[in-house]
Amino acid sequence: MAVVQMVNHARRQVLLVVDDRQENLEAMEALLEQGDWQLRCVASGEAALQCLLEEDVGLVLLDVQMPHMDGFEVARLMRGNPRTRFTPIIFVSAIAQTEDAVLKGYSTGAVDFMLKPFDTRVLRHKICSLLEHARHRQELRALTEQLEQARAFSTSILEHAGEGILVVGEDGGIQFANPAIAQMLRYPVEALLGRSLVDCLPPEMGAQGWHESAFHQHWRAQTVYRLHETSLVTCDGQHVPVALSCAPLPSPRQAMVLVIQDMTVVHCLHTQLEALAITDPLTGLLNRRGFHQALANALARTERQGQQRMAVLYLDLDGFKRINDSLGHEAGDQLLRQVGEQLRASLRPYDVLARIGGDEFTALLDDLDHPEDAARVAEKLMEHLAVRHSVEGLDFTVGASVGIACFPECGRTVEGLLRAADMAMYEAKRAGRQQYRFFTQEMNGRARSRLMLEESLRRAIEQDEFRLVFQPQVYLDSGRLRGFEALLRWQHSQAGEIGPGVFIPLLEETRLINRLGAWIFRKGAEQLACMQQQFGNDIILSLNVSPVQFAMPNLAQLLREAIEAHGLQPAQLEVEITESALMQDIDAAREQLGQLRRLGVLIAIDDFGTGYSSLAYLRHFELDTLKIDRLFIANMLDSPRDAAVVSTIIDLGRHLGLEVIAEGVETQAQREWLVAHQCAIMQGFLVAPGLPIERALALPAQLDWNVLTDV
Ligand code: C2E
Ligand code: CA
Ligand code: CA
Repeated sequence: MAVVQMVNHARRQVLLVVDDRQENLEAMEALLEQGDWQLRCVASGEAALQCLLEEDVGLVLLDVQMPHMDGFEVARLMRGNPRTRFTPIIFVSAIAQTEDAVLKGYSTGAVDFMLKPFDTRVLRHKICSLLEHARHRQELRALTEQLEQARAFSTSILEHAGEGILVVGEDGGIQFANPAIAQMLRYPVEALLGRSLVDCLPPEMGAQGWHESAFHQHWRAQTVYRLHETSLVTCDGQHVPVALSCAPLPSPRQAMVLVIQDMTVVHCLHTQLEALAITDPLTGLLNRRGFHQALANALARTERQGQQRMAVLYLDLDGFKRINDSLGHEAGDQLLRQVGEQLRASLRPYDVLARIGGDEFTALLDDLDHPEDAARVAEKLMEHLAVRHSVEGLDFTVGASVGIACFPECGRTVEGLLRAADMAMYEAKRAGRQQYRFFTQEMNGRARSRLMLEESLRRAIEQDEFRLVFQPQVYLDSGRLRGFEALLRWQHSQAGEIGPGVFIPLLEETRLINRLGAWIFRKGAEQLACMQQQFGNDIILSLNVSPVQFAMPNLAQLLREAIEAHGLQPAQLEVEITESALMQDIDAAREQLGQLRRLGVLIAIDDFGTGYSSLAYLRHFELDTLKIDRLFIANMLDSPRDAAVVSTIIDLGRHLGLEVIAEGVETQAQREWLVAHQCAIMQGFLVAPGLPIERALALPAQLDWNVLTDV
């Protein structure tokens, strides 16, 4: 049957009236037309079910007696359908109200009965209150659905979160764990629940018990606790590096929520970086930092386990710089790699080996019985290195100097041991190459004063405390000025003037000479320009070049710059080189001399006669001048041997076409002897000591020998 009326009021609930009799329906319609609902009237059970399917019905007024399908049947079908199971039904019946019918009505799902004739006011009340119930139930259902959705949403967040999430009760028991944390700790989720968080903490964090733990303390203070670098313990006892935060949950929950991030990957990267930071990329050995760490660890270990003997070896290659400079860095690198491999092979597998600087290697020998064992290792290392190396088709040997510092005698700290070994190495170098030395306290004292002097030298360079003085060189026959030798002086703020004998060796050791050397060349050239104005173009200035300076690859370049800066002739400059500098490496010396020669400066051998094989090597080199060492001059009048040396050098010079300068001439007698032996040039206190530039410029261009007096 058709729906009789539709109340177009969407919000209001639907009230369905079912009666097979038209007059009843009309009466009901008239009765219920006014009300806070939408009225639907149908004339059969089937139509009622249809309506119930199509609409959300709030209440059904159901006629009991209907043909085909009576009210009971409609009620039964309604209760069978989830959609209408709880829709309230009021049975309306006109028949004699037998108790049976009422009971049957209730049992099929009626919530109430109205028997005709009824009081319409009562009916409206019932309708109102039942619709109200129905509405409440509907709201409740909607809320439940929303709640269910919200819950599913949060659950899905927790389930899928990449971070581990734990809820831990005030007592330390785990109340909730998401799959991420379960996976991180390798437990099934259920196994985590109820477990104490302390079980998952590393010992140092959980040792004092839960209530003393930082977690609980922060919870009590209601503050967030963050740990950027910690770990948790997995079910099989492994440590997982994590970052975590623990925040109190609002009361009344006596709990906290932990969010945990797995830092394993970050940690791995970190470890890799660390490893890179402590290795030397060239040799694959440890670098300085790595060695420091290893030594620090070893020292800490001996601290714990009682003292063991250890030794630090400091090894420096002899003459590496020369190889590097002459063959290039590529070859130098190759050599260093070979040396690293050889050293590695000569040590025990558990000895620590590092390259801590250019050609400096260190080794830590652990667990030695006697200090002599370290000496044996040092010997072995030097021996192994002494075999031929082949780099870029060239064969050569490298030597090494080794310093040894023993623990605990020579130091108990990383720095102390390294410093001691370094000092000992330095002593080994001084003693000649290819040696080893143990550190001694005496070295310490020497090193300390050296250190202080070195420091003040550094300052002196910065504060411009150096100056040059000029000692004249004079032709013995005519008294004409040949030129000057530039001599270095240190004007010390407290100690006054200090001679080069004291500080030149130190400048050499510390390589500060290279810095100062460049200054000397510049300054010398500048003052030579003044001398040239005063004395003419053939005045010569001699500059001393120490062995270290002579090994500088850019020596010729520095000189050229100085010469060009002042528009000088190269032949106005003379470099004085000692025999020992030439003899260190004949090939390198020849190469360096070749460069100087091409530049056009004069070359003099200083202190000639004091070195070894003096005569033998002369033919190797192209030279201009020989300077007879002043000790021979000082002794020649008394010692026939020294006199013989001096006259032989004079003869040699003449034969080779070299100028010969006698140094350190102090007396007229010496001068006369030299004149008699046809020595060409002299230099010495008899004429003048090193003079400040103004006094040097004031000298006459030609000397009168008669006015000179002995010193
Ligand atoms: P040297 O090259 O043999 O220099 C000559 C030294 O003998 C100078 O000592 C000079 O003052 C001293 N002398 C000169 N005439 C006489 C004399 O008649 N009697 C005596 N007893 N001594 C005389 P100084 O200036 O102390 O220099 C010592 C050494 O220091 C020099 O020996 C030289 O090897 C080095 N030196 C000096 N200046 C420089 C420099 O500018 N650069 C470098 N690399 N070394 C320098
Ligand atoms: Ca000299
Ligand atoms: Ca000399």
